[in-house]
Amino acid sequence: MQKRALVVGLGIAGMSAAIGLRAAGWAPVIVERAPERRRGGYFIGLLPDGRQAAVDLGISEDLHVRNPPDAGKAWELDRHGRSAPGLGFLHQPGRPAAVVRGDIEAALWQSIAGTGGEPVEVRFATAPAEIDDGADDVEVVLEDIGTGHEYRERFDLVVGADGMRSSVRRMVFGPHEEYMTNWNAMICAFQLDEQVPSYGAQDSVISARAGRAAWVFGLADRAPTALLTYRTADIAEQFTGDRVERLRSVFSGMDDPAVRHVLDGLERAPEFLFDSVHQVKMSRWSKGRTVLVGDAAWCLNLYSGMGATSALRGGDALGRALRENPADLRAALTAWESGLRPSIRSHQRTARIKQQMFVPSGRVAEVLRSFILRLGGAWRRRKLEKDRAAAPVGSGASV
Ligand SMILES: Cc1cc2nc3c(=O)[nH]c(=O)nc-3n(C[C@H](O)[C@H](O)[C@H](O)COP(=O)(O)OP(=O)(O)OC[C@H]3O[C@@H](n4cnc5c(N)ncnc54)[C@H](O)[C@@H]3O)c2cc1C
Repeated sequence: MQKRALVVGLGIAGMSAAIGLRAAGWAPVIVERAPERRRGGYFIGLLPDGRQAAVDLGISEDLHVRNPPDAGKAWELDRHGRSAPGLGFLHQPGRPAAVVRGDIEAALWQSIAGTGGEPVEVRFATAPAEIDDGADDVEVVLEDIGTGHEYRERFDLVVGADGMRSSVRRMVFGPHEEYMTNWNAMICAFQLDEQVPSYGAQDSVISARAGRAAWVFGLADRAPTALLTYRTADIAEQFTGDRVERLRSVFSGMDDPAVRHVLDGLERAPEFLFDSVHQVKMSRWSKGRTVLVGDAAWCLNLYSGMGATSALRGGDALGRALRENPADLRAALTAWESGLRPSIRSHQRTARIKQQMFVPSGRVAEVLRSFILRLGGAWRRRKLEKDRAAAPVGSGASV
């Protein structure tokens, strides 16, 4: 008989896992607490491993990529608002693919809805209320959030792909405090309605001072997205009062054109993500017949720039491990975890260094960061000019 898996969460990790499970011959059912699929979202740079995972999951053809030509220009602003060429997220090695989160989810959704095989059953406005892991199966109480109606259902496996504050993790492994490490930092991400005045439509603009930074990510075929991020010792306090007023107060004194534009854009934005930054660290990602994937298991956080990549890779690899160990769930989960853990551990470590690039911790880090990125930006500009001079007429390279 075909084995059934409950996948909790219709994000990148949940849909990737469902596609992987389906390819392994399982029948996944996805439950999502939201009433409908999310769209849009913030900028994501997909690194080579993530692009390869998209190929392995069979979704790369449907993935809409928004890289500006030659990865676009990035501008670093100094304390007086003067700009100089710098290096943006897309200029790192490996040529990241520029997308918004909704682009990845849309490509995964196409496969879930039937282009990649049998359509996967998806139940919106549904969440698990209890998970009872038995010897032969898992009994889950599912709640229809709209009506409050609860019902029981049995599965051979539960996949918790319900994000950093995973309720599957809380129910099966223990309270959030045991696994979520606090990074004393906040983020606010949203879609801008227009580019910062006087910059090119596809440019990235970065203003990073000690403890606070504003990033504008330029995209090829839509308005840029923005990220405000800052460090704080008091996370609880950040969630009190009006969010926009708080951000205005945190960024007061940083009076450059990019910060002003981003704060004004925030007031006009129909929605934004405002949250604290954490990493999730667990010694095991599975227990009995429950396994966690993506941010629920290992949230690397945005500074690593690897969360979406590892969510795709994690779901795909889970399917492969189940395919290779069809009769032994424990062996499959052990093989899956030992294959992934070294790279997750390494990304969790390097995220601390990358955080300095996003938002320097103090004045020395600010100066060092700015020096490195401006040097890199000047070098890149010279290289592009040289390449353009050497390119045959009409080849279209741009600086
Ligand atoms: C601002 C920002 C920028 C980022 N930039 C990058 C980047 O450049 N590159 C990169 O690789 N990564 C990046 N990331 C990280 C990446 O977005 C995440 O790691 C990835 O989206 C995590 O996917 P997920 O499916 O594990 O979790 P989520 O996206 O959190 O999805 C969880 C899903 O589960 C649902 N859910 C939650 N609770 C329940 C419940 N009880 N029952 C049912 N459903 C539930 C939620 O509604 C949601 O649909 C960034 C993150 C942020 C915040």
